[in-house]
Amino acid sequence: MTLAIEGATLDGETVGLRIEDGRIAALGSTVAAAPGDERLDGAGTAIVPGLVNGHTHAAMTLFRGYADDLPLMEWLERHIWPVEAKLDDDDVYWGTRLACVEMIRTGTVRFWDMYWQPGAVARAVGDAGIRATIGPPLLDGCDPARADELKRAAGDGLDEIAAHGGPLTAPSLAPHAIYTVSPRSLEWIAAESERLGIPVQIHASETEREVDDCVAAHGVRPIELLDRVGLLGPRTLLAHAVWIEEGERELIAASGATVVTNPVANMKLAVGRIFDLPAAQRHGLPVGLGTDGAGSNNSLDLLADAKHLALGQKHLAADAAASPAAETLAIAAGARAPLLGSTPVEAGRPADLLLVRTDGHQLGIGSLEAGLVYASSGSVVDTTIVAGRVLMRDGVVAGEAEIVERARAQGRRLGLLGG
Ligand SMILES: [Zn+2]
Repeated sequence: MTLAIEGATLDGETVGLRIEDGRIAALGSTVAAAPGDERLDGAGTAIVPGLVNGHTHAAMTLFRGYADDLPLMEWLERHIWPVEAKLDDDDVYWGTRLACVEMIRTGTVRFWDMYWQPGAVARAVGDAGIRATIGPPLLDGCDPARADELKRAAGDGLDEIAAHGGPLTAPSLAPHAIYTVSPRSLEWIAAESERLGIPVQIHASETEREVDDCVAAHGVRPIELLDRVGLLGPRTLLAHAVWIEEGERELIAASGATVVTNPVANMKLAVGRIFDLPAAQRHGLPVGLGTDGAGSNNSLDLLADAKHLALGQKHLAADAAASPAAETLAIAAGARAPLLGSTPVEAGRPADLLLVRTDGHQLGIGSLEAGLVYASSGSVVDTTIVAGRVLMRDGVVAGEAEIVERARAQGRRLGLLGG
């Protein structure tokens, strides 16, 4: 089946676009639907690349609005971890499906996930039709005696992803953080990543306390510790990297690791600093954008977070030219970090793209990039296509009502439903 989009604009020009076998087969002003094509009318819309959410915990949609307005460690230790200990496959499956609905609605075509029951995540991702790199959180409580437990969890998690994943899912190793995983286990994870050729995603330098505790325990800062255990490399994704210094930026740059900034979650959890994007760019660091989980954001709308990224950078640098709109949008699409897997709208590339409404009240006058970053949110997304499959058309995602109801039922089971 060939899908043809006619009448949409790309870079200001009206174009046609044909999709065959999940890829963009033809694109240009003279491209039109052929007999037998399924035709999609793009009038009143613009084609833009799909967005990449570089860091989230998708099933935490179940925790949305639960235990808000608390500091990170109190939030995690007293509220999130006790409920997470009760999670089963159905909780994670329906929580992830709910997250996928929100991401599809708001233009995300690929996400990086760190969460429990990775087999359930893989099933949910496959059923939703979105792309994801999945990894179960690995923790040993910094207790070397629990290292075998961590290794088992890693092996079992990868087996589950292989058993339940499909062409749109990819595995990863996801050590939670340096304050929950021992250096010896981090060394093992680095070796496993190398052996298996799969990425590693880890929370790093999110809070000042993490840095102070690391220096007290190990005599080095978190990024230096990751370098020491061999975990910095081109397959490594560092979520946050808020509390980093110049020397740590140099280490990240030399290693080729990617930083994913999560400005909304950082501000909501009041980590006390903002990731310094211009400094990262001076070092040539690959940078992506993430929402973090809906427990700490509470939204998965990456366009809304792109605005926070841009505004935070301008404010921090006292420079209105910091993080300009087109650059911010490129970061949100994963185009500034090869590891994240962006998909430019070009012939021959995977057909992961959006149609955004330019005939509504938010877009259509002035620069499209400025409109997307500063004036709108994910609500301007009309159509979301991943691997050539239409996951949303005219703002409708198939099965949404049932997914919302089933996720609510799981939230009720866990005692998470508010009044
Ligand atoms: Zn996180």
